[in-house]
Amino acid sequence: GDEGKGKIIDYLSQDTDYSVRCTGGNNAGHTVVVDGNTYKLSLIPSGILHTNTRCALGAGVVIDPEVLLKEMDQIRSYGIPVNPERLFIDRDAHLILEYHRMVDMAREQALGAGKIGTTGRGIGPAYEDRACRSGIRFAELLDLPTLKPKVQKIVAEKNSYVSKVLNNVSQVDLNNVWRVVEMAAKELAPYIKNVSLTIDNAIKNGERVMFEGAQGTLLDQIHGTVPFVTSSNTLAGAATTGTGIGINRINYVLGIVKAYTTRVGSGPFPTELNDANGDYMCEHGHEFGTVTGRKRRCGWFDGVAMRRAVRLNGIDSFAVTKLDVLSGLDKLKICVGYELDGKVVDDMPALASEIERLKPQYVEVDGWKEDISQVTNFNDLPQNAKNYLAKISEVTGCKISILSLGPDRNATLFSEHADFIKNFLGE
Ligand code: GDP
Repeated sequence: GDEGKGKIIDYLSQDTDYSVRCTGGNNAGHTVVVDGNTYKLSLIPSGILHTNTRCALGAGVVIDPEVLLKEMDQIRSYGIPVNPERLFIDRDAHLILEYHRMVDMAREQALGAGKIGTTGRGIGPAYEDRACRSGIRFAELLDLPTLKPKVQKIVAEKNSYVSKVLNNVSQVDLNNVWRVVEMAAKELAPYIKNVSLTIDNAIKNGERVMFEGAQGTLLDQIHGTVPFVTSSNTLAGAATTGTGIGINRINYVLGIVKAYTTRVGSGPFPTELNDANGDYMCEHGHEFGTVTGRKRRCGWFDGVAMRRAVRLNGIDSFAVTKLDVLSGLDKLKICVGYELDGKVVDDMPALASEIERLKPQYVEVDGWKEDISQVTNFNDLPQNAKNYLAKISEVTGCKISILSLGPDRNATLFSEHADFIKNFLGE
């Protein structure tokens, strides 16, 4: 996560017809800088900043209605229209309510030192309810009399679970939960649509649709560094399951990766740096979480993890972000392999305890001193920066199509491998 998806998505959605969020909830945080103005987004696709783009929250997203309404107001305060003509919520998306947040916090408190590092926003518990068939979908807001007894039953169950199983004093008040449900029904009903049908029709009609991911590959619920993962699928495949469109509707997968590696919260991190180089990346890259403000852990580019990401997502090319942050470092390292207990391993092991014991094998390349944030042409980069990127491509087996050299929209370059992207943008 935090590799600058917001910026790249914003850049690519300047001419898209639809920008679609497929998974996750308000644990994702995007920062987009346009002409020096900073926009912070969490749930709503970054495409909302382009007034000709329509945005959808697919069925795979879990939505806290209070957070969504606040974010809608926030975007309106920037002078950008947010209305049912350009923002759609899938009828099958699930609601996050106060009891989900309560369970999230109470569980994390019960785990103590072994905590997962969740953002405490109720996202995991909302996905659990979906899996247990006791979640509430947006469609259900359209029939409140049927919904009320269901909510009563859920609230009683959650309160009992938190006090009896988790031994926690927190409780939610049914009236408060119901007040939010009624408010969500009143305010959001006009936005509830059949996103699957809308997007499928749009694609059939030749409209341009972009699906945006959330979090990151190694946070995937199944393929990530379990148990330090999020509670949804973060891989590109989730674009289809999280929206309700067929896999043959996806033409291209762009992987967004930082020129070094960061991680927020707990969990193994083979190339982590607890030294001056790590501090340099943290300071120059402003590595603090958008949503939680937590300091991000920093380390060298992990080519093995990225090879895994290329495979798991079917990545066609990379957008490499934050290369500018590395300017000024004498030497740069790229992890090209791992050793586990003296043996070379060719993929990330399955157990967190094994990942913790990995010894990364590095190649070292020379750094560059020049400030590259104003470079506008790929060929004008310092030779050492080009060498570094070439090594990333070689190790991951994946071409680089886009390069980001600063937070602003304009600090974006295309390489010679950007034909699909340029075509998508109509350039
Ligand atoms: P996301 O969760 O992947 O969307 O990433 P965030 O938006 O949380 O974090 C990325 C941060 O890096 C934001 O503050 C961006 O403005 C900033 N950013 C994005 N691309 C670049 C870049 O190429 N260089 C620098 N220096 N900052 C960038």
